[in-house]
Amino acid sequence: MKDFYRLADLKNWEEPRIRLGVVGDPVRQSRSPAMMNAALQACCLEMEYARFQISPDELAEALPLFVAHNFIGLNFTIPHKIAATARMDELDEFARTVGAINTARIDNGKLLGSTTDGPGFAQAIREEFALELRGLHILLLGAAGGAGRAIAQQCALEGCARLVLANRDFSKAERMAVDLGVEAIEWARIESLGKLDLAVNATPVAFERKVGAEYFYDLSYLRAVSSSHSANGLSMLLHQGALAFEKWFERAAPIEVMRAALAGRA
Ligand code: NAP
Repeated sequence: MKDFYRLADLKNWEEPRIRLGVVGDPVRQSRSPAMMNAALQACCLEMEYARFQISPDELAEALPLFVAHNFIGLNFTIPHKIAATARMDELDEFARTVGAINTARIDNGKLLGSTTDGPGFAQAIREEFALELRGLHILLLGAAGGAGRAIAQQCALEGCARLVLANRDFSKAERMAVDLGVEAIEWARIESLGKLDLAVNATPVAFERKVGAEYFYDLSYLRAVSSSHSANGLSMLLHQGALAFEKWFERAAPIEVMRAALAGRA
């Protein structure tokens, strides 16, 4: 298997064992193949999961090729989560509300879109900090991105006590805040927020500023963790991946095998 495949490879497809993959730009950094291939092997599913380097202007051409080559499912990562939503044949109710997807199941030639980022995030917060979203005061940075939207909906769904949305393009955060009935804050003013339970970084850039949050969760799993009250996105990667596996195969995911593969123990 190659490190990653491109649109040109899909047009001339010669890898029938590959039936699943992650689509992104860039995608080389993705750790999903290690986790998913360990899960496939543990469940004796004779197929493989690969990376696909597809740019935004190639996405429309790439999607029907995955269908034509008998793929079972896909994951979408930065920057495709919002654009891919419009290219699905069907969306589940949560994905329709969120307006972003990270998972597609291919069934009878149809692309069925859903998002496991929201529940995967909730499970990660439970596991990392022993916290439920319900009742928390939360600041969400990058709220209008694909993952940010899913997390905002999940926080609202689970009844957090206060949700403050921040986004580089403030007008997007403002629109979302109206729809969700929560607050939006300008990026420059986030230090002025009072005491918070949890700050979440759903942008691709490191967040160095001081906000009054007891816990900090950074969705990127490439950045190191600095204290026991902060965690990076590896736990969310695991849980959103396990939920995607369950959507594709309608069976429980071998979560400890996937965890070990991500930790490099497999
Ligand atoms: P996305 O849809 O492209 O959204 C990016 C978000 O970040 C938008 O809110 C964007 O603001 C903001 N942003 C981009 N560059 C910025 C900058 N220089 N300064 C401030 N804000 C900036 O991306 P995504 O798919 O949601 O992914 C976002 C991050 O989460 C990535 O690092 C991704 O790897 C990570 N992620 C991790 C997991 C996991 O399982 N651990 C799952 C999903 C995502 P604008 O709206 O103003 O452009």
